[in-house]
Amino acid sequence: MSITLDSEQKRALSERLRFYHELGIYDFYRREIVPDSRVVNEPAVPTTVKLQPEQREEMPSNRAALAVSVVEEDLFAAPKPEAEVADPAQALRLIREDLGDCTRCRLHKQGRKQIVFGVGNPKADLMFIGEAPGADEDQQGEPFVGRAGQLLNNMIKAMGLRREDVYIANIIKCRPPGNRTPERDECDTCSPFLMRQIAVIQPKVIVALGAVAAKTLLAINAPMAELRGRWYDFRGTKLAVTYHPAFLLRDPRQKKETWKDLQIVMKELGLAISPRIPE
Ligand code: URA
Repeated sequence: MSITLDSEQKRALSERLRFYHELGIYDFYRREIVPDSRVVNEPAVPTTVKLQPEQREEMPSNRAALAVSVVEEDLFAAPKPEAEVADPAQALRLIREDLGDCTRCRLHKQGRKQIVFGVGNPKADLMFIGEAPGADEDQQGEPFVGRAGQLLNNMIKAMGLRREDVYIANIIKCRPPGNRTPERDECDTCSPFLMRQIAVIQPKVIVALGAVAAKTLLAINAPMAELRGRWYDFRGTKLAVTYHPAFLLRDPRQKKETWKDLQIVMKELGLAISPRIPE
């Protein structure tokens, strides 16, 4: 049985989620509501609700700092192959193996050459998450190797880091045809593998590059200008949002803003701040 919430219930649920968030609880599980004849007075907010993906509340921008990831996970699912593996490099290899020659969404038959899993230091303090592989990435099997990737490399270098110090991945691992924006169901199908990568790497900071990454990770719908400039708590990891390098190639004036975002990240990571804006 699914329940459609009215706006008052949504507001109250949102408050409740914020309360749990403040307690450090981020994940919520779906449970069927079993009618209980002993309950006389219905609570204002149902204690268990089944959120359909399309019913997830889109939080108003002024409350964007509150990001609660509502994940649908099966409490009784078999343990992940990487669960007991202490070495992050080996754990990532097991996730890659589990992904296999993935056919879980339509993208496998829409011209992808290969799966672009992710690259970098399995113990990275800093993780960048983009949207989806483009043509160059599809060709080479590595994220951010095209023009946007060159700019990302420059950004990483300007932060005083090397590409191999950080970990780079995307919300989805296969190139959408014509580089179109990934569909919601493609993100929902693919991103659990990214979540497992994040859980293994345990970065100190995640930087979401662009709106697709930010909105998918945070389940927030707001313009980029409002998403930037604050910290989010992503399952216990600090997450910042900045512009996607491909956007910066189109509008280089925003590099200055991006550099401000990255300097906040650098401060958090204890990296020396320099005034230099990446070219
Ligand atoms: N854009 C992305 O979002 N990811 C890539 O890997 C390349 C371009």
